[in-house]
Amino acid sequence: MIDPNAPYARTLAQRADALTTICVHAGDERDPSSGALEAPIVTSSAFGFRSAREARDAFQGENDAYIYGRWGNPTVDALESKMAALEGTEAACVTASGMAAVSGAVLSICESGAHIVAPRSMYAESARLFRERLTRFGIQTTFVDAARPGAYRDAVTDATRLLYVETPSNPTLAIADVADVVALARERGIATIADNTFATPFAQTPAALGVDLVVHSMTKALGGHGDAIAGVICGRRAPVDRARDLVVKGFGGVVSPFTAFLVARGLRTFALRQKQACGAAAELAAKLSEHPKIARVHHPSLRGHPGRALADRQMHAYGALLSFEVAGDDALESGRRVLESVRTISHAVSLGDVRSLLVHPASTTHSTMPKETRLLASIGDGLLRLSVGIESASDLWADLEQALAASNGA
Ligand code: PLP
Repeated sequence: MIDPNAPYARTLAQRADALTTICVHAGDERDPSSGALEAPIVTSSAFGFRSAREARDAFQGENDAYIYGRWGNPTVDALESKMAALEGTEAACVTASGMAAVSGAVLSICESGAHIVAPRSMYAESARLFRERLTRFGIQTTFVDAARPGAYRDAVTDATRLLYVETPSNPTLAIADVADVVALARERGIATIADNTFATPFAQTPAALGVDLVVHSMTKALGGHGDAIAGVICGRRAPVDRARDLVVKGFGGVVSPFTAFLVARGLRTFALRQKQACGAAAELAAKLSEHPKIARVHHPSLRGHPGRALADRQMHAYGALLSFEVAGDDALESGRRVLESVRTISHAVSLGDVRSLLVHPASTTHSTMPKETRLLASIGDGLLRLSVGIESASDLWADLEQALAASNGA
Protein backbone atom coordinates (compact mmCIF):
# COMPACT_ATOMS: atom_id res chain seq x y z
CA MET A 1 0.00 0.00 0.00
CA ILE A 2 1.48 3.36 -1.05
CA ASP A 3 1.14 6.20 1.44
CA PRO A 4 -0.63 8.83 -0.72
CA ASN A 5 1.11 11.64 1.18
CA ALA A 6 4.68 10.34 1.15
CA PRO A 7 6.70 13.24 -0.29
CA TYR A 8 8.83 11.57 -2.92
CA ALA A 9 8.62 10.89 -6.61
CA ARG A 10 6.82 7.79 -7.88
CA THR A 11 5.70 6.67 -11.27
CA LEU A 12 2.61 8.42 -12.52
CA ALA A 13 0.69 5.15 -12.53
CA GLN A 14 1.58 4.47 -8.88
CA ARG A 15 0.61 7.99 -7.86
CA ALA A 16 -2.72 7.74 -9.70
CA ASP A 17 -3.30 4.36 -8.10
CA ALA A 18 -2.70 5.83 -4.63
CA LEU A 19 -5.22 8.63 -5.14
CA THR A 20 -7.96 7.45 -7.41
CA THR A 21 -10.11 5.66 -4.80
CA ILE A 22 -9.91 8.75 -2.60
CA CYS A 23 -10.96 10.88 -5.59
CA VAL A 24 -14.00 8.70 -6.28
CA HIS A 25 -15.22 7.94 -2.76
CA ALA A 26 -13.88 10.33 -0.07
CA GLY A 27 -16.57 12.55 1.39
CA ASP A 28 -19.44 10.52 -0.02
CA GLU A 29 -22.28 9.54 2.22
CA ARG A 30 -25.28 7.86 0.69
CA ASP A 31 -28.34 10.08 1.02
CA PRO A 32 -30.39 8.26 3.75
CA SER A 33 -33.78 9.38 2.43
CA SER A 34 -33.36 8.26 -1.19
CA GLY A 35 -30.29 6.00 -1.23
CA ALA A 36 -28.90 8.19 -4.04
CA LEU A 37 -25.22 7.42 -4.67
CA GLU A 38 -24.60 10.96 -5.86
CA ALA A 39 -25.08 13.43 -2.99
CA PRO A 40 -27.90 15.90 -3.67
CA ILE A 41 -27.14 19.56 -4.36
CA VAL A 42 -28.60 21.22 -1.26
CA THR A 43 -29.74 24.69 -2.26
CA SER A 44 -31.49 25.76 0.95
CA SER A 45 -30.14 29.03 2.39
CA ALA A 46 -31.61 28.30 5.86
CA PHE A 47 -32.06 24.94 7.65
CA GLY A 48 -35.08 24.18 9.87
CA PHE A 49 -34.59 23.37 13.56
CA ARG A 50 -36.46 20.46 15.12
CA SER A 51 -36.69 22.21 18.51
CA ALA A 52 -35.79 25.44 20.31
CA ARG A 53 -33.13 23.52 22.19
CA GLU A 54 -31.53 22.28 18.92
CA ALA A 55 -31.46 25.90 17.66
CA ARG A 56 -29.88 27.19 20.86
CA ASP A 57 -27.30 24.37 20.91
CA ALA A 58 -26.48 24.94 17.24
CA PHE A 59 -25.68 28.59 17.96
CA GLN A 60 -23.56 27.56 20.97
CA GLY A 61 -21.62 25.10 18.77
CA GLU A 62 -22.92 22.18 20.87
CA ASN A 63 -24.34 20.23 17.94
CA ASP A 64 -23.46 20.15 14.26
CA ALA A 65 -26.88 21.13 12.90
CA TYR A 66 -26.78 23.26 9.75
CA ILE A 67 -28.03 26.80 10.38
CA TYR A 68 -27.46 29.02 7.35
CA GLY A 69 -25.82 28.47 3.96
CA ARG A 70 -22.95 30.91 4.49
CA TRP A 71 -22.00 29.04 7.68
CA GLY A 72 -22.19 25.52 6.29
CA ASN A 73 -23.85 23.39 3.60
CA PRO A 74 -23.88 19.57 3.13
CA THR A 75 -22.83 19.73 -0.56
CA VAL A 76 -19.89 21.96 0.33
CA ASP A 77 -19.03 19.76 3.35
CA ALA A 78 -18.77 16.68 1.10
CA LEU A 79 -16.33 18.52 -1.17
CA GLU A 80 -14.30 19.68 1.84
CA SER A 81 -13.96 16.10 3.11
CA LYS A 82 -12.77 14.90 -0.30
CA MET A 83 -10.25 17.73 -0.54
CA ALA A 84 -8.89 17.19 2.99
CA ALA A 85 -8.40 13.51 2.14
CA LEU A 86 -6.50 14.42 -1.02
CA GLU A 87 -4.16 16.88 0.71
CA GLY A 88 -3.86 14.57 3.74
CA THR A 89 -5.05 17.28 6.15
CA GLU A 90 -7.44 17.25 9.08
CA ALA A 91 -9.75 19.89 7.57
CA ALA A 92 -10.50 21.93 4.45
CA CYS A 93 -12.54 25.07 3.83
CA VAL A 94 -13.86 25.67 0.32
CA THR A 95 -14.09 29.32 -0.71
CA ALA A 96 -15.64 31.34 -3.54
CA SER A 97 -12.39 31.47 -5.54
CA GLY A 98 -8.69 30.78 -5.30
CA MET A 99 -8.06 34.43 -4.44
CA ALA A 100 -10.58 34.23 -1.58
CA ALA A 101 -8.55 31.27 -0.28
CA VAL A 102 -5.20 33.05 -0.68
CA SER A 103 -6.30 36.37 0.85
CA GLY A 104 -8.39 34.70 3.58
CA ALA A 105 -5.58 32.38 4.63
CA VAL A 106 -3.08 35.26 4.75
CA LEU A 107 -5.40 37.58 6.70
CA SER A 108 -6.28 34.81 9.16
CA ILE A 109 -2.60 34.86 10.18
CA CYS A 110 -1.38 38.45 9.68
CA GLU A 111 -2.45 41.61 11.49
CA SER A 112 -1.37 45.21 11.03
CA GLY A 113 2.39 45.50 11.59
CA ALA A 114 3.10 41.97 10.35
CA HIS A 115 5.86 41.19 7.87
CA ILE A 116 5.64 38.46 5.22
CA VAL A 117 8.29 36.77 3.09
CA ALA A 118 6.94 35.68 -0.31
CA PRO A 119 8.33 34.59 -3.69
CA ARG A 120 9.18 37.16 -6.34
CA SER A 121 7.74 34.86 -9.00
CA MET A 122 4.15 33.88 -8.31
CA TYR A 123 0.59 34.27 -9.54
CA ALA A 124 0.28 37.97 -10.38
CA GLU A 125 -2.93 38.66 -8.42
CA SER A 126 -1.35 37.10 -5.31
CA ALA A 127 1.67 39.33 -5.91
CA ARG A 128 -0.66 42.35 -6.08
CA LEU A 129 -2.28 41.28 -2.82
CA PHE A 130 1.11 41.42 -1.09
CA ARG A 131 2.53 44.42 -2.96
CA GLU A 132 -0.49 46.75 -3.14
CA ARG A 133 -3.44 45.63 -1.08
CA LEU A 134 -1.97 44.41 2.22
CA THR A 135 0.35 47.43 2.51
CA ARG A 136 -2.81 49.59 2.94
CA PHE A 137 -3.44 47.68 6.17
CA GLY A 138 0.13 47.97 7.48
CA ILE A 139 1.29 44.52 6.34
CA GLN A 140 4.64 44.59 4.50
CA THR A 141 6.14 41.89 2.29
CA THR A 142 9.72 41.16 1.27
CA PHE A 143 9.92 39.34 -2.08
CA VAL A 144 12.69 36.80 -2.54
CA ASP A 145 14.08 34.44 -5.15
CA ALA A 146 12.39 31.47 -3.49
CA ALA A 147 14.55 28.93 -5.33
CA ARG A 148 17.76 30.38 -3.84
CA PRO A 149 18.83 28.43 -0.73
CA GLY A 150 18.78 30.73 2.31
CA ALA A 151 16.61 33.39 0.62
CA TYR A 152 13.81 33.17 3.20
CA ARG A 153 16.28 33.13 6.12
CA ASP A 154 17.97 36.29 4.84
CA ALA A 155 14.63 38.13 4.65
CA VAL A 156 13.12 37.15 8.02
CA THR A 157 12.81 39.90 10.66
CA ASP A 158 11.42 39.99 14.20
CA ALA A 159 8.11 41.17 12.70
CA THR A 160 7.80 38.22 10.28
CA ARG A 161 4.57 36.30 10.85
CA LEU A 162 4.28 34.37 7.59
CA LEU A 163 6.48 32.55 5.08
CA TYR A 164 4.51 32.13 1.85
CA VAL A 165 5.57 29.65 -0.86
CA GLU A 166 4.27 28.92 -4.34
CA THR A 167 6.20 26.05 -5.86
CA PRO A 168 6.68 25.25 -8.70
CA SER A 169 6.51 28.96 -9.45
CA ASN A 170 4.26 30.54 -12.06
CA PRO A 171 5.26 30.53 -14.91
CA THR A 172 8.94 29.50 -14.75
CA LEU A 173 8.50 26.33 -12.64
CA ALA A 174 11.28 27.30 -10.22
CA ILE A 175 11.31 24.98 -7.19
CA ALA A 176 11.48 26.23 -3.57
CA ASP A 177 12.67 23.90 -0.81
CA VAL A 178 9.47 23.51 1.21
CA ALA A 179 10.99 21.47 4.06
CA ASP A 180 13.72 24.09 4.47
CA VAL A 181 11.18 26.93 4.67
CA VAL A 182 9.15 24.92 7.21
CA ALA A 183 12.27 24.29 9.34
CA LEU A 184 13.01 28.04 9.43
CA ALA A 185 9.38 28.84 10.27
CA ARG A 186 9.35 26.37 13.16
CA GLU A 187 12.65 27.65 14.52
CA ARG A 188 11.28 31.23 14.55
CA GLY A 189 7.64 30.48 15.48
CA ILE A 190 6.33 31.73 12.11
CA ALA A 191 3.34 30.35 10.15
CA THR A 192 3.62 28.92 6.62
CA ILE A 193 1.23 28.91 3.65
CA ALA A 194 1.81 27.06 0.36
CA ASP A 195 -0.16 27.78 -2.80
CA ASN A 196 -0.30 24.26 -4.26
CA THR A 197 -2.38 25.17 -7.33
CA PHE A 198 0.42 24.57 -9.83
CA ALA A 199 1.58 21.24 -8.43
CA THR A 200 -1.84 19.93 -7.25
CA PRO A 201 -1.97 17.20 -4.55
CA PHE A 202 -1.18 14.72 -7.31
CA ALA A 203 2.35 16.12 -7.62
CA GLN A 204 2.97 17.55 -4.15
CA THR A 205 1.48 17.46 -0.64
CA PRO A 206 2.93 20.44 1.31
CA ALA A 207 1.14 19.55 4.56
CA ALA A 208 3.14 16.31 4.66
CA LEU A 209 6.25 18.52 4.53
CA GLY A 210 4.96 20.50 7.53
CA VAL A 211 3.23 23.51 5.91
CA ASP A 212 0.44 24.95 8.09
CA LEU A 213 -2.08 26.00 5.43
CA VAL A 214 -2.26 24.73 1.85
CA VAL A 215 -4.30 26.88 -0.53
CA HIS A 216 -5.57 26.18 -4.03
CA SER A 217 -7.47 27.68 -6.85
CA MET A 218 -9.92 24.79 -7.39
CA THR A 219 -10.82 26.55 -10.63
CA LYS A 220 -7.76 24.81 -12.09
CA ALA A 221 -6.85 21.10 -12.12
CA LEU A 222 -9.00 20.13 -9.11
CA GLY A 223 -12.29 21.12 -10.80
CA GLY A 224 -10.46 20.43 -14.03
CA HIS A 225 -13.12 21.22 -16.63
CA GLY A 226 -12.86 24.99 -16.90
CA ASP A 227 -16.46 25.49 -15.76
CA ALA A 228 -16.30 26.49 -12.08
CA ILE A 229 -14.54 29.11 -9.93
CA ALA A 230 -13.64 28.01 -6.37
CA GLY A 231 -10.78 27.85 -3.88
CA VAL A 232 -9.80 25.87 -0.81
CA ILE A 233 -7.74 26.22 2.38
CA CYS A 234 -6.46 22.92 3.87
CA GLY A 235 -4.71 22.25 7.17
CA ARG A 236 -5.30 21.43 10.83
CA ARG A 237 -8.82 22.08 12.05
CA ALA A 238 -8.14 25.11 14.29
CA PRO A 239 -6.33 27.31 11.71
CA VAL A 240 -8.72 26.22 8.94
CA ASP A 241 -11.71 27.15 11.12
CA ARG A 242 -10.09 30.51 11.91
CA ALA A 243 -9.70 31.15 8.17
CA ARG A 244 -13.29 29.97 7.52
CA ASP A 245 -14.63 32.33 10.17
CA LEU A 246 -12.89 35.25 8.47
CA VAL A 247 -13.17 34.57 4.76
CA VAL A 248 -16.44 32.65 4.46
CA LYS A 249 -18.54 33.84 7.42
CA GLY A 250 -17.01 37.30 7.80
CA PHE A 251 -16.08 38.42 4.28
CA GLY A 252 -18.79 36.32 2.61
CA GLY A 253 -16.48 34.42 0.27
CA VAL A 254 -18.83 31.42 0.22
CA VAL A 255 -18.99 28.96 -2.68
CA SER A 256 -22.33 28.13 -4.31
CA PRO A 257 -23.58 24.54 -3.75
CA PHE A 258 -23.89 24.18 -7.56
CA THR A 259 -20.22 25.04 -7.95
CA ALA A 260 -19.30 22.70 -5.09
CA PHE A 261 -21.10 19.88 -6.91
CA LEU A 262 -19.25 20.61 -10.18
CA VAL A 263 -15.85 20.67 -8.46
CA ALA A 264 -16.59 17.44 -6.54
CA ARG A 265 -17.64 15.77 -9.80
CA GLY A 266 -14.45 17.00 -11.46
CA LEU A 267 -12.37 15.65 -8.56
CA ARG A 268 -13.62 12.09 -9.15
CA THR A 269 -11.38 11.87 -12.24
CA PHE A 270 -8.63 14.13 -10.90
CA ALA A 271 -5.92 11.45 -10.46
CA LEU A 272 -6.61 9.92 -13.88
CA ARG A 273 -6.53 13.33 -15.55
CA GLN A 274 -3.27 14.24 -13.84
CA LYS A 275 -1.64 10.95 -14.78
CA GLN A 276 -2.39 11.66 -18.44
CA ALA A 277 -1.52 15.39 -18.32
CA CYS A 278 1.74 15.02 -16.34
CA GLY A 279 2.90 12.24 -18.68
CA ALA A 280 2.15 14.35 -21.76
CA ALA A 281 3.82 17.43 -20.21
CA ALA A 282 7.09 15.56 -19.63
CA GLU A 283 6.96 14.18 -23.18
CA LEU A 284 6.33 17.61 -24.70
CA ALA A 285 9.02 19.26 -22.54
CA ALA A 286 11.59 16.72 -23.77
CA LYS A 287 10.59 17.18 -27.42
CA LEU A 288 10.48 20.98 -27.19
CA SER A 289 13.94 21.11 -25.62
CA GLU A 290 15.33 19.33 -28.70
CA HIS A 291 13.48 21.51 -31.23
CA PRO A 292 15.76 23.91 -33.15
CA LYS A 293 13.29 26.80 -32.82
CA ILE A 294 13.13 26.63 -29.03
CA ALA A 295 15.60 28.64 -26.94
CA ARG A 296 14.59 27.47 -23.45
CA VAL A 297 12.16 25.05 -21.80
CA HIS A 298 11.19 25.07 -18.12
CA HIS A 299 9.86 21.79 -16.65
CA PRO A 300 11.20 19.99 -13.56
CA SER A 301 11.27 16.67 -15.45
CA LEU A 302 14.18 17.95 -17.57
CA ARG A 303 17.62 16.84 -16.39
CA GLY A 304 18.98 20.37 -16.84
CA HIS A 305 16.22 22.04 -14.79
CA PRO A 306 17.86 23.72 -11.76
CA GLY A 307 15.14 22.40 -9.42
CA ARG A 308 15.20 18.79 -10.64
CA ALA A 309 16.99 17.25 -7.61
CA LEU A 310 14.75 19.14 -5.20
CA ALA A 311 11.65 18.16 -7.15
CA ASP A 312 12.73 14.52 -6.87
CA ARG A 313 12.93 14.92 -3.10
CA GLN A 314 9.71 16.79 -2.40
CA MET A 315 7.34 16.06 -5.29
CA HIS A 316 5.37 12.97 -6.29
CA ALA A 317 5.36 14.04 -9.97
CA TYR A 318 6.63 16.94 -12.10
CA GLY A 319 3.27 18.48 -12.91
CA ALA A 320 1.34 19.34 -16.05
CA LEU A 321 2.64 22.86 -16.67
CA LEU A 322 5.65 23.92 -18.65
CA SER A 323 6.93 27.11 -20.22
CA PHE A 324 9.20 27.79 -23.16
CA GLU A 325 10.80 30.54 -25.20
CA VAL A 326 10.86 30.52 -28.97
CA ALA A 327 14.33 31.28 -30.39
CA GLY A 328 14.97 34.29 -32.59
CA ASP A 329 15.96 37.94 -32.42
CA ASP A 330 12.37 38.99 -31.85
CA ALA A 331 11.18 36.52 -29.19
CA LEU A 332 7.96 38.46 -28.67
CA GLU A 333 6.97 38.26 -32.36
CA SER A 334 7.94 34.55 -32.60
CA GLY A 335 5.86 33.79 -29.51
CA ARG A 336 2.90 35.74 -30.90
CA ARG A 337 2.96 33.69 -34.11
CA VAL A 338 3.00 30.41 -32.19
CA LEU A 339 0.05 31.58 -30.05
CA GLU A 340 -1.93 32.54 -33.12
CA SER A 341 -1.12 29.30 -34.97
CA VAL A 342 -2.12 26.61 -32.45
CA ARG A 343 -5.33 24.73 -33.29
CA THR A 344 -5.83 21.84 -30.82
CA ILE A 345 -4.32 23.92 -28.03
CA SER A 346 -6.44 26.92 -26.95
CA HIS A 347 -4.95 30.38 -26.61
CA ALA A 348 -6.39 31.27 -23.19
CA VAL A 349 -5.46 32.05 -19.60
CA SER A 350 -6.11 29.66 -16.69
CA LEU A 351 -4.57 26.21 -16.29
CA GLY A 352 -5.33 22.66 -15.20
CA ASP A 353 -8.19 22.31 -17.68
CA VAL A 354 -8.94 19.12 -19.64
CA ARG A 355 -8.06 21.30 -22.67
CA SER A 356 -4.47 22.38 -23.21
CA LEU A 357 -4.10 26.13 -22.75
CA LEU A 358 -1.31 28.38 -24.04
CA VAL A 359 -0.72 31.92 -22.79
CA HIS A 360 1.82 34.73 -23.07
CA PRO A 361 2.44 35.75 -19.42
CA ALA A 362 4.25 39.07 -20.07
CA SER A 363 1.23 40.61 -21.86
CA THR A 364 -1.54 38.88 -19.90
CA THR A 365 -1.28 37.07 -16.55
CA HIS A 366 1.86 38.96 -15.45
CA SER A 367 1.18 42.32 -17.17
CA THR A 368 0.45 44.03 -13.83
CA MET A 369 3.92 43.10 -12.59
CA PRO A 370 6.51 45.91 -13.03
CA LYS A 371 8.78 44.99 -15.99
CA GLU A 372 11.99 44.94 -13.95
CA THR A 373 10.36 42.64 -11.34
CA ARG A 374 9.07 40.42 -14.15
CA LEU A 375 12.50 40.14 -15.76
CA LEU A 376 14.12 39.50 -12.36
CA ALA A 377 11.66 36.59 -12.03
CA SER A 378 12.92 35.25 -15.44
CA ILE A 379 9.58 35.98 -17.14
CA GLY A 380 10.98 37.15 -20.47
CA ASP A 381 9.03 38.94 -23.22
CA GLY A 382 8.92 35.77 -25.37
CA LEU A 383 8.00 33.23 -22.68
CA LEU A 384 4.90 31.09 -23.36
CA ARG A 385 3.20 28.97 -20.68
CA LEU A 386 1.53 25.71 -21.63
CA SER A 387 -0.97 24.00 -19.35
CA VAL A 388 -1.16 20.46 -20.70
CA GLY A 389 -4.64 18.94 -20.84
CA ILE A 390 -5.73 15.35 -21.33
CA GLU A 391 -5.57 15.29 -25.14
CA SER A 392 -3.24 12.74 -26.73
CA ALA A 393 0.42 13.76 -26.37
CA SER A 394 1.06 13.02 -30.05
CA ASP A 395 -1.81 15.29 -31.15
CA LEU A 396 -0.46 18.06 -28.91
CA TRP A 397 3.03 17.62 -30.30
CA ALA A 398 1.73 17.73 -33.88
CA ASP A 399 -0.05 20.99 -33.04
CA LEU A 400 3.06 22.56 -31.48
CA GLU A 401 5.21 21.44 -34.42
CA GLN A 402 2.91 23.02 -37.00
CA ALA A 403 2.62 26.21 -34.90
CA LEU A 404 6.42 26.45 -34.66
CA ALA A 405 6.70 25.87 -38.41
CA ALA A 406 4.13 28.64 -38.96
CA SER A 407 6.28 31.02 -36.92
CA ASN A 408 8.95 30.70 -39.66
CA GLY A 409 10.93 33.78 -40.43
CA ALA A 410 10.07 35.47 -37.15
N1 PLP B 1 -3.09 30.80 -7.23
C1 PLP B 1 -2.58 30.48 -8.43
C2 PLP B 1 -1.24 29.82 -8.49
C3 PLP B 1 -3.28 30.78 -9.60
O1 PLP B 1 -2.74 30.46 -10.79
C4 PLP B 1 -4.55 31.42 -9.50
C5 PLP B 1 -5.32 31.76 -10.71
O2 PLP B 1 -4.85 31.67 -11.82
C6 PLP B 1 -5.04 31.73 -8.23
C7 PLP B 1 -4.29 31.41 -7.11
C8 PLP B 1 -6.36 32.44 -8.06
O3 PLP B 1 -7.41 31.56 -8.33
P1 PLP B 1 -8.90 32.01 -8.76
O4 PLP B 1 -8.81 32.52 -10.15
O5 PLP B 1 -9.71 30.78 -8.61
O6 PLP B 1 -9.31 33.09 -7.82
